[in-house]
Amino acid sequence: MTHRREENVWIPESDLDGMTVDTLAVRAGQIRTGQLEHSDPIFPTSSFVYGSAAQAAARFGGEEPGNIYSRFTNPTVQAFEGRIAAMEGAERAVATASGMAAILSTCMALLKAGDHVVCSRGVFGTTNVLFQKYMAKFGVETTFVSLTDMDAWASAVRPETRMLFIETPSNPLCEVADMEKLAALAKASDALFVVDNCFCTPVLQRPLDFGADIVVHSATKYLDGQGRCVGGVVVGPDKLVDEVYGFLRSAGPTMSPFNAWVFLKGLETLPIRMRAHCDNALELALWLEQQEAVEQVFYAGLESHPQHALAARQQKGFGGVLSFRLKGGREEAWRFVDGTRMISITANLGDVKTTITHPATTTHGRLSPEDKAAAGITENLIRLSVGIEAVEDLKTDLSRGFHALQNPSN
Ligand SMILES: *Cc1c(COP(=O)(O)O)cnc(C)c1O
Repeated sequence: MTHRREENVWIPESDLDGMTVDTLAVRAGQIRTGQLEHSDPIFPTSSFVYGSAAQAAARFGGEEPGNIYSRFTNPTVQAFEGRIAAMEGAERAVATASGMAAILSTCMALLKAGDHVVCSRGVFGTTNVLFQKYMAKFGVETTFVSLTDMDAWASAVRPETRMLFIETPSNPLCEVADMEKLAALAKASDALFVVDNCFCTPVLQRPLDFGADIVVHSATKYLDGQGRCVGGVVVGPDKLVDEVYGFLRSAGPTMSPFNAWVFLKGLETLPIRMRAHCDNALELALWLEQQEAVEQVFYAGLESHPQHALAARQQKGFGGVLSFRLKGGREEAWRFVDGTRMISITANLGDVKTTITHPATTTHGRLSPEDKAAAGITENLIRLSVGIEAVEDLKTDLSRGFHALQNPSN
């Protein structure tokens, strides 16, 4: 007698009923083949075979469920989708080739010409480009408003508004949106409320619990966490995600099985990584606040942060990204960045390795001067994506940056 599943089956989700996100990150969505492997298998195959012509017909006709072609479904990709859906508390997820493909597919599937979008101003730079340049080309207009100004949201909504889109906390100033209020506005306006949950991951925040209709992710960031792959995912109720799946199947920006396998491995360590990111970021934020050369620190974990209480209510931790303004301008900011030695100078974030960025000339460099000013992207602003190195060593490296500020000739 056996009570454990031994062959070729998805491990039933009911065994995990009521379990926490930390456990779901390790266990949900797992499949096991006849080899009884303990670690998730990978299926690097573009297509699948049938036992007979009749079975092929039944698969294509949809009477028999099963794999046909990896642009439609792939078992490794489905395992990743099942795990992230469980973690977000959603009915369904579909994986995409990148975070941008997740956002594009959501828009293409759920919007049409003549629709209007209201989007928070501080979103990821390419999301901004996608709405302003490409969605506009297909007759979808977007209004950008401040993430935290509820009056601005309410007055931006029009009869043809079909989507509210946000990131919370925002990048790089860590502003926090009140998701329940925005969800209520979306509902009253017959619009979908879409949250890019890349910064928090479901370990720290589950937007569907606060009324979001759809969650999108760049899996490239924390979900992988080790800088190996580009990917994305769209999460939500069956009805909406099925529309997105239909677009993906026809348009093709799907996730490869190899990347899905890497992300599955990444998710297993996500809960402990997120705790380490949060602990290090809070300690560095407090330390930076005390530095003579620092004008202001932006991190929702600080009591000085205007939405600290809201962040504490919505999030289980304050995340790994923080930013700060140095006294001075671009010259001082660049001197500080160049003064560090270990921390990576890169625009990426969500990695176990700490990264440092000068947003005004990189991630947000394409914004017009007015848009930069409106988003608070000043020349003296520096963003850190705090990794999981020992926090003392991060302070040592950042101290080299402060030293370089005081000693311009070095
Ligand atoms: C990186 C990022 C994206 C885009 O994801 P890609 O995987 O690079 O396409 C979208 N949203 C946020 C918040 C991001 O940080």
